[in-house]
Amino acid sequence: MPNSTQPKVLIVGAGLGGLCLGILLEHAGIEFEIFEQASIFKPIGAAVSLTAGVLACLKQIGIYEDVVRNSKVARCTKLFNEKRQEYTSIDWSFAKDITGYDTFIIACPVFYSMLLRQIPLHKIHMGKKVLSLQQNESGVTLFCSDSRSYFGDLLVGADGTSSIVRTNMYTQMKNRNVLPLADEAEIRYTCECLVGQTKALDSRLFPELKQDTCILNTIVGYDGPYKWATLTTGHSISWGVYHFFNDKDTKEKRNRDLSSQHPSSSTLSSSSESSHSYSSQKYTEWGPEATDIMCNNVRDFAVPGGNGKLTMGDLIDNTSRDFIAKGMMAERVFETWSYGRIVLLGDACHPMDPYGGQGAVNAMQDAIALANWINVLPSRSQEDIEAIYEEYKAERLPSAKNSFQATRLISLTNSRGIAGTCSRFVAKKTPVWIRRYMARKMAQARPQVSFLPCVPDQGEVAAIELPSYTKTKHLAEQKAARKTF
Ligand SMILES: Cc1cc2nc3c(=O)[nH]c(=O)nc-3n(C[C@H](O)[C@H](O)[C@H](O)COP(=O)(O)OP(=O)(O)OC[C@H]3O[C@@H](n4cnc5c(N)ncnc54)[C@H](O)[C@@H]3O)c2cc1C
Repeated sequence: MPNSTQPKVLIVGAGLGGLCLGILLEHAGIEFEIFEQASIFKPIGAAVSLTAGVLACLKQIGIYEDVVRNSKVARCTKLFNEKRQEYTSIDWSFAKDITGYDTFIIACPVFYSMLLRQIPLHKIHMGKKVLSLQQNESGVTLFCSDSRSYFGDLLVGADGTSSIVRTNMYTQMKNRNVLPLADEAEIRYTCECLVGQTKALDSRLFPELKQDTCILNTIVGYDGPYKWATLTTGHSISWGVYHFFNDKDTKEKRNRDLSSQHPSSSTLSSSSESSHSYSSQKYTEWGPEATDIMCNNVRDFAVPGGNGKLTMGDLIDNTSRDFIAKGMMAERVFETWSYGRIVLLGDACHPMDPYGGQGAVNAMQDAIALANWINVLPSRSQEDIEAIYEEYKAERLPSAKNSFQATRLISLTNSRGIAGTCSRFVAKKTPVWIRRYMARKMAQARPQVSFLPCVPDQGEVAAIELPSYTKTKHLAEQKAARKTF
């Protein structure tokens, strides 16, 4: 039962970050509600890679075994050209020695259902599109498109790359002249992507499905601005096609979107606090028509595997339309993560190229750090809330920046042109000991929840002590001791 002296948390967005935070607050007995614009759960994204950076936490919340049962271990990525000729393969099977954990690839819909089962459904409000926010000394209110409003002590924007929470928060800051210049610039979309998850396939026609490990293939289109990838998950194949923009494309898309005025953008512009200069939702292009067009454009793309003549069209035809989605992707680490009672997590404050496989893990790590701090919040005062938000950002910003840089390096190996060719050559020639050294550095942050039983460390590289764990554990112990006394 929630304690009446504890805060009430409003979470905008039921993506991986929002759900993960909800689960942890449920464990902590802290009151929360999640507001999701979609009216039904339709997870976007094909597959998610779960690394040592979150696996200890998944053990703590009791879903690790379920994840292991429903995913495949990935130990290597193969790079191909558009004629299905293998260029190189990058092996990272040493990851298990370093952290004690394999990397698991799991289909997005499967992982979402696992997370959803951990939260009482009445705490998730579907079909609630948040339009604007207001905050003052006593609390924060969110306003939805159905004219309802909700009040809480803290508000977490876990609403993804085109975050309306970030838009509103930055507008409030801009109006008070406290928004850093770096955050005034518009978000820049780098690519559009089409993703899907096939139905269960016949392993006689797709022999790669017989293998226990995940077959992860990336294909770089040398003559066009595309790359595409397939991953085996269980009995099906997750796939994604990425179309990269040059600056002219991006400009044209923005102009087209602005002139066509999506219904969502006109609703947005009616919100009292939203500002057009920060509102990026009008540039996004999710929707059935755009999806169909991109499906048609990429049908002939060659895909390794199957009978040797496999194309993206075969995978699309084996995928239910409900499991195909299209969206625009951006890369950026914002400097401002909170203001007053409002805070951001996940893609809302650090959208990353999905190709690096770091976005989901980072969103969940944000949720762990934030939940640890919310659990030891001394009061509902704005001052105390701002103090824990500072601690949260101080820990998570450097980590998000590291992942962002790592993602950039990974993206380079499968980019086009001279840069791509050179980095693939370097990747091919890089000795294992250098890759191992880099992996050891990346693997140090393995956050855990400080109010749940700790999972013993494993692997050759010890997890570093994170303040969101050590400090909050200490504060919780002090609080418990005061109560006993
Ligand atoms: C194709 C693809 C493949 C990927 N593969 C990987 C991978 O292998 N590994 C990895 O780590 N990451 C991967 N990612 C990235 C990863 O999915 C994201 O980084 C992660 O989902 C971020 O989680 P989030 O909760 O911050 O945001 P999201 O998952 O984007 O969730 C945001 C939620 O907020 C909701 N929302 C938005 N606006 C509003 C509003 N106004 N009101 C109410 N609700 C709102 C949205 O509907 C959505 O449900 C991939 C992404 C894509 C697209």
